[in-house]
Amino acid sequence: MRDTGVGRVYLVGAGPGDPGLLTVRGLQCLREADALVYDRLANDRLLAEARPDAERIYVGKEPDAHTLTQDEICQLLVRLGLEGKTVCRLKGGDPFVFGRGGEEALALLEVGVPFEIVPGVTSAIAAAAYAGIPVTHRGVATSFAAITGHEDPTKGESSIRWDRLATGVDTLVFLMGVGNLPHIVENLVANGRPAGTPVALVRWGTTPKQRVVTGTLADIVERVAAARLKSPALIVVGEVVALREQLKWFDQRPLFGKRVVVTRSREQASALTEKLEALGASVTEAPTIRIEDLADYAEVDSALRQLATYDWVVFTSVNAVQHVRRRLDVLGLDARAFGGVQLCAIGPATGDALRQFGLRPELVPERFVAESVVEAFAEHDLAGKRVLLPRALEARELIPEKLAERGAHVDVVPVYRTVADERSADMLKQLVASGEVDVLTFTASSTVHNFVKLVGEEAAHALPAEVVCASIGPVTSRTAEEYGLTVAVEASEHTIDGLADALAAWQQA
Ligand code: SAH
Repeated sequence: MRDTGVGRVYLVGAGPGDPGLLTVRGLQCLREADALVYDRLANDRLLAEARPDAERIYVGKEPDAHTLTQDEICQLLVRLGLEGKTVCRLKGGDPFVFGRGGEEALALLEVGVPFEIVPGVTSAIAAAAYAGIPVTHRGVATSFAAITGHEDPTKGESSIRWDRLATGVDTLVFLMGVGNLPHIVENLVANGRPAGTPVALVRWGTTPKQRVVTGTLADIVERVAAARLKSPALIVVGEVVALREQLKWFDQRPLFGKRVVVTRSREQASALTEKLEALGASVTEAPTIRIEDLADYAEVDSALRQLATYDWVVFTSVNAVQHVRRRLDVLGLDARAFGGVQLCAIGPATGDALRQFGLRPELVPERFVAESVVEAFAEHDLAGKRVLLPRALEARELIPEKLAERGAHVDVVPVYRTVADERSADMLKQLVASGEVDVLTFTASSTVHNFVKLVGEEAAHALPAEVVCASIGPVTSRTAEEYGLTVAVEASEHTIDGLADALAAWQQA
């Protein structure tokens, strides 16, 4: 943080909602800022990009309850700037499209606080695009206008020239207009726009909550009332709206609108979250497990010191690979400690973790079930062979038993433990109780055990039938079923991709 001189204020367009639609420059400013000033239309995910120690100031602007007036917001920016802070003023869409960014810049100019404008992707174009509506289209629309729909219809004199606008521009995009829809429609028709002109309302465009209602100037008021569509929404008027029938894409993705909970550990959640979001799901990360170090590594260390005396090391998870790697490092050893030991990695992700360590596994059974692991070893004579199995403290899979049946001497050594992540307890309880969840995903038995632990057995039993449990494979499914959960979706390929694919296929079926 700078403590001398005047700061700098970035007026940054946050984009229309989808966090991916923030500009690269906007992200830079966000990450650099000492203070963040944001309102209702800025996405929470973006706030997470700011420095942890950055001051976060919410200035609201709910439709009815202004947290701060515009004047107070300007004064706040001025004060922060004069205090020497680098400020990121994050505004929905573009700061100069009905964002009052101009007023904020003028206030800063007046006191000599330097500012920069970082334009954003305006909802006026983007929410339409995410509804499959191009604001211009060759042969259909050669002009478009963004208009405020917020004018008070009772104030008599309008500053909107309806007589020119109604027929003078091909595509009309109204912002802040939901409450005034009847008035807008009436003005357009009275000024010559044909009643058959297509109209769309796009609410929360570009987000998982996006909703679209279409009609014509003749019936859109009724349709919007019937759908109970509220602000924030865009009103798009013009022939281009008809293209949505062919071009709709965002709300057509397989998991669109589905609320999916990811229960993996925080460190491992993102791969699944990204896959599910790409399929259109609205994802909540509520980690049920946390990976923790052991209190005592004596047993692990002694096994690792004589690593080269084993014939095989079997890794059953990415975590096992990472913890062995870390422990070798503590012992002053590296990948060479494996010598000529043969390696088995269960599942492709575990295989990749070994390769990142410069180790190439001999065996990578696809399926995390004892049978397939044993099958993978079919061509190898295990009689009298020494096998090391580093894994979670509380694992209870059958692999060691099965390998022992083939004559191997198996050393099972815990290298980490999974514990319930209590931080998610309240969120999970609330999700389950409110019914605001469509799918629970389980990527390991430990995620099931700890889900039940966190929400309580009773609540787990009382899960509404509409809540779908999706599991990565049969071992995890069996654990879920032991708790009385019904697993409706099970991945046939037992990987994160396989789980996402299974969910997509289930929705499309
Ligand atoms: N500066 C913003 C607009 C602010 S005015 C921009 O460039 O997008 C607020 C209005 O924008 C809302 O009333 C609504 O009409 C529109 N709006 C903002 N985000 C939206 C979204 N995700 N979907 C639909 N309309 C949105």
